[in-house]
Amino acid sequence: MKRQIIDTIERYDKIIIHRHVRPDPDAYGSQMGLKELIQTNYPMKQVFAAGAHDESLTYLACPDQVNKELYEGALVIVTDTGNTERIDGEFYTQGDLLMKIDHHPDVDPYGDVKWVNTSSSSTSEMIYSLFEEGQKQYGWNMTTDAARLLFAGIVGDTGRFMFPSTTVHTFAVASDLIKFDFDRAELFAGMYEVKRELLHLKGYIYQNFEMDDNGAAFVKINKSILEQFGVTASDTSQLIGALGDVKGICAWVIFIEEDDQIRVRLRSKGPVINQLAAQFGGGGHPLASGASVYSWEEADKVIVELKRLCE
Ligand code: AMP
Repeated sequence: MKRQIIDTIERYDKIIIHRHVRPDPDAYGSQMGLKELIQTNYPMKQVFAAGAHDESLTYLACPDQVNKELYEGALVIVTDTGNTERIDGEFYTQGDLLMKIDHHPDVDPYGDVKWVNTSSSSTSEMIYSLFEEGQKQYGWNMTTDAARLLFAGIVGDTGRFMFPSTTVHTFAVASDLIKFDFDRAELFAGMYEVKRELLHLKGYIYQNFEMDDNGAAFVKINKSILEQFGVTASDTSQLIGALGDVKGICAWVIFIEEDDQIRVRLRSKGPVINQLAAQFGGGGHPLASGASVYSWEEADKVIVELKRLCE
């Protein structure tokens, strides 16, 4: 598969790489890491990263401006995105060939060429494996910046190597990547430094979550709470894992109210929750999923289902 992907990359002069909306470090890491690798090893090719920029990820990289005309004759690669609805960038179907590289369950097998590995901790780890194949077969080189991007993706999606998706291979890849001379302290600061206000909201979450005897927990964060603490809905990404520290917790859902929807952010320590997310039009990984609901009544239905899963 990796060989086929590299052979396909070799055939195209123009490559446009997409990833998912509401990006996280693995979305940027896999997208921009792959871009950097292709650009370095094929300097004559034109390589672009598509999708809206998320200011909170500026420390990692910035995407490019791409217009519809650019897609003519291009290879389009989408990384880290399980379903087409979550692809950021509207023209991804306008290229010559569409390729999916992802580690989410393959619920929506889009693309002419697909490489999906759900046992990989992150798409960035897959991109590193692709690099190894390129190195073996075609003498690809790694760069410090690609190493930094892929390392960030792996650290982000493994919850700093704590999630069970972290394998011997993940650590091996991370150990290869840190041989490159990027500033890890600076990277971790970009990823994990939080504003004071967010820590206050974290305190609010610890004080206000509700948990039943089976360890099913939830907390609702509405717009007025966000305003009260001075944080944005997207800032809260750094807090979703926090309830995982609570003794006896089994699975949890944090609701974050946005202007037009309530985001449902689900995490689990055991029961598979992505089917529950799918019931509400979302999806994701077995132990980390998400969806959107449009009323607090609907949110309560998610809680009922989550409690059922933990029984
Ligand atoms: P989040 O809580 O946004 O960090 O999402 C956790 C995981 O759930 C992500 O890695 C996505 O794979 C998935 N996810 C979140 N929201 C959705 C959605 N609306 N549809 C499909 N998958 C989602």
